[in-house]
Amino acid sequence: MQRQDKSYVIGVDIGGTHIRIGAVASDNSLSFFQKHKVYEVIDVDQPIESLIFFLDAYIQENLRIEQVLAVGMGFPSIISKDKKSIHSTPNLECLSNTNIVDRIEAFFSIPVFIENDVNYLLQFEIAKRDIGEQDIVLGFYIGTGFGNSIYINQQFLEGKNGAAAELGHIPVMGNEEICQCGNVGCIEMHASGKALVALHKKYFSDVPFHQVFAKYGSDSKIDAFIRALAVPIATEINIFDPHLVMIGGGVISMEQFPKERLEYHIQSYCRKPYPAQGLKMEYAEDTNAAGILGAATAIFKKLGVS
Ligand SMILES: [Zn+2]
Repeated sequence: MQRQDKSYVIGVDIGGTHIRIGAVASDNSLSFFQKHKVYEVIDVDQPIESLIFFLDAYIQENLRIEQVLAVGMGFPSIISKDKKSIHSTPNLECLSNTNIVDRIEAFFSIPVFIENDVNYLLQFEIAKRDIGEQDIVLGFYIGTGFGNSIYINQQFLEGKNGAAAELGHIPVMGNEEICQCGNVGCIEMHASGKALVALHKKYFSDVPFHQVFAKYGSDSKIDAFIRALAVPIATEINIFDPHLVMIGGGVISMEQFPKERLEYHIQSYCRKPYPAQGLKMEYAEDTNAAGILGAATAIFKKLGVS
């Protein structure tokens, strides 16, 4: 039976590979969860129309439109400062340079919020913890790309254009590979899920991808990959001296991912004695619902519902 009387925020977590969607009530309970491949949902020639079609079908299948308070969508993208448009999406190029909010709001006549996906993922973790008003929290999410979020002064750092915290796109000296963002030598080219996929294809294709850490965790090429993750993480730690570092994403959740080795390398690159001493590193909960629940938490707060 559908809970016809309840009101929900629909959360949509759009990563480089999967779309996750669910309806969240104000008590934080999640209903009607679904997970799809991105390209089964998004038509690259008509990305917004296909997203509207997807949302409409989801609502018709599970709810009445009157029950939907708002829709919140996290994208692996630079989101405009006014939170209406997507500026750039290296891992889902068809969504770059689109005003998404006005068109979806016009179709459904309900509020639509968009945000960088990692901000919603980190919001989910922050909501579970006792984070002080002055605390700095850094989020590093290694999925298809290298996602980053900086929480400071009780909000996510946006910068002048909404383009802050693009750690995956800092340049690396001597790296000549062209990134999907258009620049040369971005860190994401060798510190991300897609870099691990390339590594697997080149050296470890005798085992299934998901077993690459389980079977080859001690290989020097895997160790170099772990160090490649640790360098940008430690770099940002040295800039912000954070109260909490949150690490997550699909790569970190893989079978036998060497967490201790990642922590060791991060520690070794951090400035001594601080921020290295007493550095607090935690791992994001490995759940498909994090981006959806994080979106709902942020939107219920905006709507004044809690
Ligand atoms: Zn780049």
